[in-house]
Amino acid sequence: MSNQLSDRINSVTPSATLEMAAKARELRASGKDIIGLSLGEPDFKVPDYIREAAIQAVNDGYNSYTPVDGYGELKEAVITKFKRDNGLDYEASQIVVSTGAKQALYNVAQVCLNKGDEVILPCPYWVSYSDIVKLADGVPVEVPTSIETDFKMTAEQLETAITPKTKMLWYSSPCNPSGSIYSEKELRALADVLQKHTQIIVVSDEIYEHINYGVTSHASMAAFDDMYDRTVTVNGVAKAFAMTGWRIGFIGGPTYIARACNKLQGQVTSGANCIAQRAVITALLESPDRVRYMVDEFKERRKLILGLLNEIDGFQCNEPEGAFYVFPDVSAYFGKTLNGAKINNASDFAMYILEHANVATVTGDAFGNPKCIRISYAASQEEITEAVSRIKSVL
Ligand code: PMP
Ligand code: GLU
Repeated sequence: MSNQLSDRINSVTPSATLEMAAKARELRASGKDIIGLSLGEPDFKVPDYIREAAIQAVNDGYNSYTPVDGYGELKEAVITKFKRDNGLDYEASQIVVSTGAKQALYNVAQVCLNKGDEVILPCPYWVSYSDIVKLADGVPVEVPTSIETDFKMTAEQLETAITPKTKMLWYSSPCNPSGSIYSEKELRALADVLQKHTQIIVVSDEIYEHINYGVTSHASMAAFDDMYDRTVTVNGVAKAFAMTGWRIGFIGGPTYIARACNKLQGQVTSGANCIAQRAVITALLESPDRVRYMVDEFKERRKLILGLLNEIDGFQCNEPEGAFYVFPDVSAYFGKTLNGAKINNASDFAMYILEHANVATVTGDAFGNPKCIRISYAASQEEITEAVSRIKSVL
């Protein structure tokens, strides 16, 4: 039978991060000693007090459907978190809890975009943004940035990218994959441009908020009074609490958008997992200082990996201020032949080091930057040292 799939799904590219992780898993199962630096997944245990809250929820008999947009107590905890960490005031009607920040982003795209609406994505952007936009019939508009501006979009670039069809601006800060953080001043400059274009909704993905190495303080677009009514703030527990598989994310935003996300979710998932939701109440209400030890360790790893990568000729790195990725420009290798393999682009480069060094990374193309590769340093210092030494030896 010929392919009976929809044009919609046929137009989507598989998630490059998940694909590379699956490939690494497969190679490992076939006996290869692969070091996986492809996936953005903290390698820590979920903190005890959060695990205990989940066990308690199981024993207390939490097993029914939850309210579609999340337990009331969880929404209160999200409100407390937004106020405490970001100075943002939300009411319960403005909060929606979802199955990961990924679903939260998907919901927002589905409820805000009509066919042909343009969404500005400063590059590099998180791998799923462009496909999530396309799945909602939107048109991703990529704004290239470079290492010289620390991979951040300037106000002038934003102004130039806006057209009458622009409906949204999406970015993550700290950024996956560059680790860059927009300062309050830089966000203000973007907000000033947006003042002239009141139709534009901003999606501020702050999932790496707590993974910040202390140079630039975290700032939220919604904290500006004139942006509050048209900003959706996305966050979740995957990164700061090492809870990737628990699949809880959330938004705070305008009530009409939250209501629409709730309606959509009611037809799609019926709400997020009940046990994970109970545990997240505890995660959010405890002080973020309790998970600071993970950030301290990531900081050590960042120092280690930057030092090692900078010893390799042809790697050009920015200094990431947050998240747990480095995004080196490896274009110096393009056009070269290494061990019989021709390297024409970042995908060839990532594949070459997977096959020859047994180290999994992700091509920058997936993040809208064809000159770079993304290396996750959510791995032990031993693995990082061994991985970079292997990469160096095959180059
Ligand atoms: N946004 C960014 C920038 C991410 O890196 C990720 C990775 N997981 C997500 C959203 C999705 O998070 P979640 O695991 O909560 O779906
Ligand atoms: N966000 C992580 C990453 O960028 C997890 C993978 C995914 O959700 O795509 O690697």
